[in-house]
Amino acid sequence: MSSVLIAGGAGFIGSYLCDYYLNQGYETYCVDNLSTSTGENIEHLEANKNFHFMNHDIVLAVPEELSKVKFRYVLNLASPASPPRYQQLAIETLQVGSLGTFNLLELARKSKARFFQASTSEVYGDPDIHPQPESYWGKVNCYGPRSMYDESKRYGEALIYAYRRKYDLDTVVSRFFNTYGPRMDAEDGRVVTNLIVQALNNQPLTIYGKGNQTRSFCYIDDLVLGIVKLIDSDLEGPVNLGNPHEFSILELAKKILAKTGSSSKIVYLPLPGDDPTQRQPDITLAKEKLNWQPTIELDEGLEKTVLYFKNTLED
Ligand code: UDP
Repeated sequence: MSSVLIAGGAGFIGSYLCDYYLNQGYETYCVDNLSTSTGENIEHLEANKNFHFMNHDIVLAVPEELSKVKFRYVLNLASPASPPRYQQLAIETLQVGSLGTFNLLELARKSKARFFQASTSEVYGDPDIHPQPESYWGKVNCYGPRSMYDESKRYGEALIYAYRRKYDLDTVVSRFFNTYGPRMDAEDGRVVTNLIVQALNNQPLTIYGKGNQTRSFCYIDDLVLGIVKLIDSDLEGPVNLGNPHEFSILELAKKILAKTGSSSKIVYLPLPGDDPTQRQPDITLAKEKLNWQPTIELDEGLEKTVLYFKNTLED
């Protein structure tokens, strides 16, 4: 039986990968220190005998139990990922992207595993090329309020390519753009969850700045399919994975008001520093090489997400 290690497996995206690999018959090791999750996303897997959860921080030395396993895949999704969370955990974010990635790469090297890295559109910073292709090197402030995340992920990519060159390790880097859907943390401060929860509670919807900044939102099921196709390919990346349909934050807020039937007002709050003005993935590479593109548009994805939060808020 093949084994997979999913670091950050209790998080929003990681938990779906645990589901996927268990369904494929893999011995699945989920490693997470629960710094930005609660374990709720993997509760349904606890009884599965092929599922092994370890409450462990990958920044620390790899536990013996893990070093004994021969992994086919090592997946790195471990990091705080929402701006308020990575700002609160700034040093930890830098450590997990550097030391944590290093420890996982060493583990992959021992197993001769294929290593998958969840990188991010944040490597492009506040881009002056639009949409962003993988070949764009980005415009990142290396000491600003987002620097702990952006530079941690950029360093992670550099480290992975160094391992690939030096040790011929089989690696692949993917850059995720804003992803949303059921199992997101309602309290981590991201725009989709903030606005849905506010609308459902009939509280004012908080828009930072004028709301004319843009993002391109990818529904979780589309992203997971893209990740799996990328892992199964022989590509090394980096490969953008995201939905290329771009919306302003104000458009998003109006859609959420319509989907929830809420009578909430919109309030405008100051725009946080270094908040990217526009973001849209160029997914030509994923389309051509993986035959992948998102199929769930924002209206449909929001309906599913609103339904999920309606149910969880009622519990
Ligand atoms: N945002 C907002 N209201 C909120 C939370 C976020 O207007 O309650 C804005 C934020 O300033 C950014 C965009 O929505 O321009 C996306 O924010 P998010 O934190 O979801 O992700 P980011 O893409 O910035 O990492």
